[in-house]
Amino acid sequence: MIIVMKPQATKENIEHIVSIIQSNGLEPHLSDGAQVTIIGVIGDKTRLINQNLEIAEGVDHIVSVTESYKLANKKFHPEKSIVKVGNTSIGGSEFVIMSGPCAVENEEQVLQTAKAIKESGAQILRGGAYKPRTSPYSFQGLEEDGLRLMKEAREATGLAVVCEVTSLAAIEAAVKYVDMIQIGARNMQNFYLLKEAGKTGLPILLKRGLSATVDEWLNAAEYVMAEGNPNVVLCERGIRTFETATRNTLDISSIPVVREKSHLPIVVDPSHASGVRAYVAPLAKSAVAAGADGLMIETHPCPEKALYDGPQSLTFKLFDKLCKELRPYIQLAGKHF
Ligand code: PEP
Ligand code: MN
Repeated sequence: MIIVMKPQATKENIEHIVSIIQSNGLEPHLSDGAQVTIIGVIGDKTRLINQNLEIAEGVDHIVSVTESYKLANKKFHPEKSIVKVGNTSIGGSEFVIMSGPCAVENEEQVLQTAKAIKESGAQILRGGAYKPRTSPYSFQGLEEDGLRLMKEAREATGLAVVCEVTSLAAIEAAVKYVDMIQIGARNMQNFYLLKEAGKTGLPILLKRGLSATVDEWLNAAEYVMAEGNPNVVLCERGIRTFETATRNTLDISSIPVVREKSHLPIVVDPSHASGVRAYVAPLAKSAVAAGADGLMIETHPCPEKALYDGPQSLTFKLFDKLCKELRPYIQLAGKHF
């Protein structure tokens, strides 16, 4: 439930409500807006039935939150969240582009990529060190050596780095090297992994599950946030549909849906959504127009030699061209890049 305070409510009025909530064994979450303070309550709200909170001094009205996710809910936190990652922030006025190879392959590949994407304006380097492969016989990534190469690239360029984790051991290693942890589509409902990632306090890039509804996705975010980590960025990466022309179907509508339901930032990954290099640019532009806070785009020094996802990876030249083409779209959307 949410207790909306009157604009003229005093500090004492707010403290009084907070103490009633706490003395009933519940957890208050304060959101101080420009106009009013909102107090969200998590837990069994029936405990507050006899407290007559609606007539307490300073209370304007009470709203019941029917959705199972609370902390990720816009009703709990009407203002958009801004998530800091390294020297950049996602969800504010800056449009953020993350880019890099599907998998970290070697030092030269990562460094070359980091330098090239930085030159084009990208703020975050992405690269997979733990690869969740469909086949158990496929290469699973360089693991900690890959994380180390990502950190070296950060030191060389100043870019923030994001890497996917697939296990508790990967989380334990990643915290030593990365600025942001990615939870991949296949693990979106791995609730144990979500909780452990949440505990690190690092920003979490939460990809949408292959067949997950927006509600399931926001509940996954809630798992991270319930660990005391509010730094979640959602990533739309396409969903499974009957269409086979593309690897997945980019659900562009999830951007306005998420905006309506949640305060969390949302970025779009047109590379995994389409699986086709030629479709990446038009989908990236549509994501900006629909209000995304950023993009994740796969790039590789030589896509035809890439270990993975070469067909969807952009060359540095194509990536640079796309970044230039995106600028007017980003400006029209009210952001800067
Ligand atoms: C990735 O970003 O490298 C990846 C594997 O994507 P997804 O989890 O969206 O399939
Ligand atoms: Mn990939």
